[in-house]
Amino acid sequence: MQYRTYGKQLGFKVSALGMGCMRLPRIYQGTSDADVDKEKAFEMIRYAVDHGVNYFDTAYGYHNKTSEAVLGEALEKDGYRDKVKIVTKQPFGVMTTQAEIRRNLENTLKKLRTDHIDVYLIHNIQKSDWENIKQQKIIEAYEKFRVEGLIRGIGFSYHGILPTFKEVLDFYSWDMCQIQQNFMDVEREATAEAIHLAGRKGTALVIMEPLRGGSLANPPAPVKVLYDEYPVKRSAVAWGFRHLINYPEVSTILSGVTTLEQLKEDIDIFSKPDAVPGCLNDTEKAILSRVKAHYESLASIPCTGCEYCLPCPHGVHIPGVFSKYNDGVMFGAFDPPKRSYSFLTRANQDASHCAACGECEQKCPQHIAIIEQLKTAHESLKGLIE
Ligand code: SF4
Ligand code: SF4
Repeated sequence: MQYRTYGKQLGFKVSALGMGCMRLPRIYQGTSDADVDKEKAFEMIRYAVDHGVNYFDTAYGYHNKTSEAVLGEALEKDGYRDKVKIVTKQPFGVMTTQAEIRRNLENTLKKLRTDHIDVYLIHNIQKSDWENIKQQKIIEAYEKFRVEGLIRGIGFSYHGILPTFKEVLDFYSWDMCQIQQNFMDVEREATAEAIHLAGRKGTALVIMEPLRGGSLANPPAPVKVLYDEYPVKRSAVAWGFRHLINYPEVSTILSGVTTLEQLKEDIDIFSKPDAVPGCLNDTEKAILSRVKAHYESLASIPCTGCEYCLPCPHGVHIPGVFSKYNDGVMFGAFDPPKRSYSFLTRANQDASHCAACGECEQKCPQHIAIIEQLKTAHESLKGLIE
């Protein structure tokens, strides 16, 4: 296993592979209330630790609010807790007052069966919440928790575009930030520029969705042909991870594994002696650019994710809906984007809230027929809430 420094402030040395605990194995696949299969999850979590993974990411809301408890139980005995860093997140929209935030942290500590959290995040900071987060003094509340020894580091996770990321990053001396990046998103979401900004500031940078919700793991035949052109044969999963391993600024790459086999494959990829920053040569970068171009040629809605159409007066996250729909079309499978669409549904940001006012269409530089396309996207994405 490769290990990396974790920003400038905490002094952590972390495994380059981190285990995400939002897609743990479940007893009944495909239903909203499926329980985590604890026996399998425990086996995977302990296997990960035994093979060098020392970084675990969870959140208040994952697995119907049970992920933290599963992780805590898996790590409680035999000294496993002391071998790892536990990172979890609190959503601002659900807990807004200082009292609610403290109550939730206390509950989270009980669920995790630990006396401290290594890094505590504000979960998925959104542009629309940022002013309220500042006004409600959420960061100050987290600082008090740190003084009390309940948490060690303070961070945030983020899914929006670069300008708000910069604003949030520069506002405070965060210990870490967590963003979505993969070779399809180098010009999207916070973009690859966010990686460099965090690196220059010395903020630990953690990557989520390295395989775009698993979509990059099963490439179509034309993409396989591109990968197979390279003399060193490797899986699509390895290509996806190595794009991120290549960045020296990245501390940990999270993998939301569901099976022990996936975990073993990931550990193997991250244990290769050449799985280090600078691992990609120009030929490999060119192959990934061509793979990206191939996928993009399949996307049906020409949304660039610029967010000029936001805010929608009815709360629809228009680029988020289009991005998930395009993922389903590009990767030929709608289950992964349906899963992430369910997060928009929970936040009342899905396409069903469109009132057809037309305000967004006037602002779209791509002249997308947003109202009609939202209906199409919703029909394909609705129905799977996890
Ligand atoms: S047309 Fe629909 S998505 Fe667009 S601004 Fe109006 S309500 Fe929002
Ligand atoms: S303005 Fe158009 S291109 Fe930009 S995010 Fe909205 S729908 Fe997409």
